[in-house]
Amino acid sequence: MKPSYIEHIGIAVKSLEESIPFYENILGLKCYAIEEVEDQKVRTAFFMAGQTKIELLEPTDREGPIGKFIEKKGEGLHHIAFSVKNINENLKEAEQKGIHLVDKTSRKGAEGLDIGFLHPESTHGVLIELCEKKAT
Ligand code: ZN
Repeated sequence: MKPSYIEHIGIAVKSLEESIPFYENILGLKCYAIEEVEDQKVRTAFFMAGQTKIELLEPTDREGPIGKFIEKKGEGLHHIAFSVKNINENLKEAEQKGIHLVDKTSRKGAEGLDIGFLHPESTHGVLIELCEKKAT
């Protein structure tokens, strides 16, 4: 595996409406999109900080992954996403090296990316997302 860059940083928040003003008014970033990912039971808001994207994640269901995360740990850093080529090969390679995967094969994430997660119990506590932008 050789990620080419950090595609985004995912941050769990209770409410987009309440957290977007911090990013816009204090950090001076602009929210350029809000998207619901039904599959993940989240609404996401996106900002660019230079070349790195910030993804805020608001649960739409308390039983979804972000809802449960906030209940357990509160708001805060949720995951780091690395951009890779051939995501499914990378997931397979990680699994062969003994890494516990959340996703054995990629699925569709926000912004049309193919995404897959490595389980934090295999990554020293950080939920790591691999993502691949398909050429259009
Ligand atoms: Zn993400």
